[in-house]
Amino acid sequence: MAPDLVGRLLDAAVATIREHAAQLTALDQAIGDGDHGINMRRGFDAIAETRAQLAAMPLDQALQKAGMTLVMKVGGASGPLYGSLLMAMGKAGAPQDVAGVAAAFEAGIEAVKKRGRSDVGAKTMLDVLVPTLGALQAGAADGVAIGELSTKLRAVAEEALAATAPMRATKGRASFLGERSIGHLDPGARSSALLIEAVCGVLEGDA
Ligand code: ADP
Ligand code: MG
Repeated sequence: MAPDLVGRLLDAAVATIREHAAQLTALDQAIGDGDHGINMRRGFDAIAETRAQLAAMPLDQALQKAGMTLVMKVGGASGPLYGSLLMAMGKAGAPQDVAGVAAAFEAGIEAVKKRGRSDVGAKTMLDVLVPTLGALQAGAADGVAIGELSTKLRAVAEEALAATAPMRATKGRASFLGERSIGHLDPGARSSALLIEAVCGVLEGDA
């Protein structure tokens, strides 16, 4: 494993959530209850507090512990959902290659679907996570190195985020708005794109 990978992933994730907390909250004000930035910030601040412990762990164990922190510290729907994502990714074991990263990500996404009783098309974080997984799996099948794949993954995540705007929400609080949820980006899709971009940034640095 690249030196201090866990610490660097953690720092990048925490930094982007802190930087964009106000934007996430503004997106949630439009179609939710205006707390997504606050929720994410609370969760990632709590993860940051355990940085020393996490950075000393292998990646799979650190993911499980960080996921548990999110489940425990975040009141909103996003805490248990992101918590499930990280915990299931960690349980999939330490990835050895791009295919291993894809398998762990797939396990994490399955856990989100189960926990949220949700799937793509409902205008949620899954509408960014699932297309990104597709690109990752395609890259793994073609034997593309993670560093090169990174640019592709960023582009797919951004495109998928933009595609949430015309969707009508059928899960989560935004679904209460029905047709009025159309025309706004999904806040959880935005936080997923931010986290994917943060991870890509770290992996590009290692490539
Ligand atoms: P809350 O909705 O409890 O206020 P947040 O505002 O922190 O929680 O998170 C809202 C985000 O969570 C949504 O934008 C959406 O992406 C995601 N979300 C909500 N419900 C679900 C679900 N059932 N499945 C997947 N994602 C969901
Ligand atoms: Mg909310």
